[in-house]
Amino acid sequence: MNPEHSARNTSDTGAFRIIPRAEHAISRKSISNGALRVLYRLHEAGYQAFLVGGAVRDLLLGGHPKDFDVATDATPEEVRALFRNCRLIGRRFRLAHVVFGREIVEVATFRGSSDDGSGDRHLVDGRLVRDNVYGTIEEDAVRRDFTVNALYYNIADFSVRDAVGGMADLEHRVLRLIGDPDQRYHEDPVRMLRAARLAAKLGFEIAPDTAAPFATLGPLLAEAAPARLFDEALKLFLSGYGLASFRALERYGLLEHVFPATARVLQAGAATHVRELIERTLANTDARVREDKPVTPAFLFAALLWEPARRLAQALIDEGTEPTLAWSHAGERVLREQTHRVAVPRRFTIAIEEIWGMQPRFAQRSKKRALRLLEHPRFRAAYDFLVLRASESAALAELATWWTEAQELEREALAERLASAPPPSTPEEGEAPAKRKRPRRRRRKRGAGAPAAGHGGD
Ligand code: ATP
Ligand code: MG
Repeated sequence: MNPEHSARNTSDTGAFRIIPRAEHAISRKSISNGALRVLYRLHEAGYQAFLVGGAVRDLLLGGHPKDFDVATDATPEEVRALFRNCRLIGRRFRLAHVVFGREIVEVATFRGSSDDGSGDRHLVDGRLVRDNVYGTIEEDAVRRDFTVNALYYNIADFSVRDAVGGMADLEHRVLRLIGDPDQRYHEDPVRMLRAARLAAKLGFEIAPDTAAPFATLGPLLAEAAPARLFDEALKLFLSGYGLASFRALERYGLLEHVFPATARVLQAGAATHVRELIERTLANTDARVREDKPVTPAFLFAALLWEPARRLAQALIDEGTEPTLAWSHAGERVLREQTHRVAVPRRFTIAIEEIWGMQPRFAQRSKKRALRLLEHPRFRAAYDFLVLRASESAALAELATWWTEAQELEREALAERLASAPPPSTPEEGEAPAKRKRPRRRRRKRGAGAPAAGHGGD
């Protein structure tokens, strides 16, 4: 029934430590009601029941976990028998989800570490593709990724169980992979990204042994499932620590394996505005996440891939391709290369292409075009993007200011203003040499377009 708590080493994985309630910071008040109900119900039914993973780690660090994972010796079927509000999910990794309104508590049965030949644990080229062999809590601990992710909070006596030195690493703020790093990254290359992400989120250092293989094993990420890399990219950039995650990816040389085109322009010593656009976008996104405002991956990917797309578009224009066509070709090609690696869903790539495609159009401020642009369903995102690009050049800064004012005006007022004092055309992307043959836009007299700020005094 109750798991035993003598500090006797019952496994071959090394000694474990029990940290009693009085010596750690986890209070039941910080655990969600759903998780507590699951833990108590399992315990009352005679099973072992532990809170585990990121929730325990974050609680020990004084944080507020969003989701709570439970580990138990009950099988998924036994869990389902205990809860009406329960469904079993996953084939590669079978789990129970217990649902309480909007909260979902994930309940996993302890995984074993040995292959019993049943095919329930399956490695292909050293990669873990199936893991449904059940085992003991010690075995469950060592198959987790980092030591600080392998701490178990026991509902039976509120102690924390540590079989891998996670407590010491937590105190020293070190992220350390459990076991042999080479083998663990071969099993699952995404663990490299998890290392960078968690180090960024927690403000931890990655242990030298844990980071050392990145240089040689980073290329394994190219073989990771693109759909999984998209999920991981969302966690990296849209969880409130996007800027720190981005910097960690760069620092640890992992960016080039996930966003190769972005890494290439940054490594090539791109102008500071390229980095500025990306970092500002990430900082903005982080702020929005903290304020609980909605965020879209489209915007972020648009920023990460903007410079590669812009350069390609410019190269095509220089070769004589018509600008609109050059832009659409460039956008499509850059996105194709990227989605090959990170499966950005179609609805987002469409949005990205629209945000990009509208950028040259901001420079065209004739009355008809300006009013039409304002009506575009993607205007807001494209405009926000223009504002983030403002540091690219003085002309863009002027353009961004102009559009900031323009969209605040009533449509009639704007139409009137455009009719009486049209702004100068701004040299922008798409002002191709080829276009000079047939200038569509009349050049305005100098002086007719005072600086945008000058239009502000209605
Ligand atoms: P987050 O704060 O992002 O939720 P987390 O550590 O909780 O971080 P999850 O993806 O929710 O991350 O995973 C829950 C737990 O499952 C982890 O703490 C870890 O113990 C284990 N785990 C997750 N992914 C892996 C992996 N790739 N290899 C081994 N163990 C993993
Ligand atoms: Mg988690």
